[in-house]
Amino acid sequence: MPDATVRISSDFDEGDASVATKQLEVKWQHRAACRGPNQIIFFPPPRLERRSEKRQREARAKEICNECPVQSACLDYAIQIREQHGIWGGSTENERREVFASNN
Ligand code: SF4
Repeated sequence: MPDATVRISSDFDEGDASVATKQLEVKWQHRAACRGPNQIIFFPPPRLERRSEKRQREARAKEICNECPVQSACLDYAIQIREQHGIWGGSTENERREVFASNN
């Protein structure tokens, strides 16, 4: 979580030409335990990652999440925006995909 306050904007098509913009202000992120140098372990590296490396990286990230004061807000947010990448709120990408599938 690099910024204390993050605005997330996403544009999406609705019909022929109309575009809507959604903005969410995320104030809890300034208390995130993953801020700083640790944040790189929350996302896959830009190179191929072995399964064992991924498991170790995710386990380290989850340990940090379990001590984080905003874990619940983070997980709610990741589910709300259907975040597809990285560790959020102590959940992996695959774990959130299961939640998304069960919510459909
Ligand atoms: S729960 Fe994990 S991913 Fe979310 S803000 Fe805290 S440390 Fe970062």
